[in-house]
Amino acid sequence: MIVLQPSWIWTSRGLQTDWCVSVEDGRIVGLNPPTRHCQVDQKLPGRLMMPGFVNAHSHAFQRAFRGFVQRTDGGGDFWSWRKQMTTVANRLSPEGIEAVSQLAFLEMLEAGFTHVGEFHYLHHQPDGSPYADPDELARRVISAAQGVGLKLTLLRVAYERNAPGDPLSSVQLRFGDKSPEDVLAALERLKACSGDGVTIGLAPHSVRTVSRSWLQALSGVDGVVHSHVSEQPMENEACQQEHGCSPLRLLHDAGLVDQRFCAVHFTHPLQGDRDLLKRQGARVCVCPSTELDLGDGFLPVAERKELTLCVGSDSQTLIDPFIEIRSLENHGRALAGQRHVLGAGLAEQLLKAGTLNGSAALGAGAQGIEVGAQADLTCVDLRRPASFEVPPLEAAVFSANADWVSEVWVAGKQVIVDGQHPGREAICARAEQALRGLLH
Ligand SMILES: [Zn+2]
Repeated sequence: MIVLQPSWIWTSRGLQTDWCVSVEDGRIVGLNPPTRHCQVDQKLPGRLMMPGFVNAHSHAFQRAFRGFVQRTDGGGDFWSWRKQMTTVANRLSPEGIEAVSQLAFLEMLEAGFTHVGEFHYLHHQPDGSPYADPDELARRVISAAQGVGLKLTLLRVAYERNAPGDPLSSVQLRFGDKSPEDVLAALERLKACSGDGVTIGLAPHSVRTVSRSWLQALSGVDGVVHSHVSEQPMENEACQQEHGCSPLRLLHDAGLVDQRFCAVHFTHPLQGDRDLLKRQGARVCVCPSTELDLGDGFLPVAERKELTLCVGSDSQTLIDPFIEIRSLENHGRALAGQRHVLGAGLAEQLLKAGTLNGSAALGAGAQGIEVGAQADLTCVDLRRPASFEVPPLEAAVFSANADWVSEVWVAGKQVIVDGQHPGREAICARAEQALRGLLH
């Protein structure tokens, strides 16, 4: 057993000062006010301890083109970005995918994330033919996460076509499956890899790329279901034309929208969608930094206020949970022209979005810091002028950034010490080799 004593702990019953948290076999076994008899193993002065952040939507390989995709001659939109993305997706070898995924996962841990939902759609060789092991690339991503010590929910993507009436293009063959049965078979095989920090879920990519009959065939699966929903107006128009309803309604009628469901983006919801999502107890994953980078738009104010939100780093434009969570409020303010859009207990609400809501969206429960919960813990070091005399929760939510993260534990194992992962150099060296020449 190890006993930790940070200056503050954000527990499920509020902020506690100088309390001790005891960890054994990956779980929290004690949470106590300070006493003279408390044998502390690690004192953490000036630290605010909170549950680990959860990155509910990630495409790890997209870390490969950070910066390159921001270079431009002017113009461009989501669709021109998508073209650049498929180019990179087809150049990466299995080793390259593992190396760049591990680089992204390293950055996530150092930023305070302890669990990622990896929306994984690179399945085959670039010409569409399977690898000798048909799950080679999924296993590479799993190995990258396990190697660095990050919890992973691998959301195995189903990808059928380019668009309604338009089959996969030559650059999308790597993403595609031949039938929903192939997707279900892959899910079954991958479930054999679960355990040791890994769980498996399903991700129909979007209603643009997956037809109604496939959605229906996939609806009986166990585990969480995530899908890109109404990210772009063009997606809504195509769905209205093909099915006469919104993307969310189509997913619902196929049997996929319930408490296990998470709508990613939801930037352009249609009439009735908000109530439907709320009624079904499903969640929304907002990816503010990516949505701004791609020019997707903003989740509307009413959806922000009424739905259960979590966050994701998506295209890895940046990996910083503090920026993502405060954008949930700040973008709402810009849209509404007023302050405190999300209402009372703002700092707690935003921390909850970054931690507990994401955890629930990945099917891992939402306990927070309390006895019996998994010891996924992140410390923010508030010993700096920027947080001097600032209330701790508000300092973390409104001033901090990823560099303020000092210690991280995943399932009771300390993976970040003094803000760094011990494998940082080796992981960066491997990624450098994988990325060399990829985009120049
Ligand atoms: Zn995405």
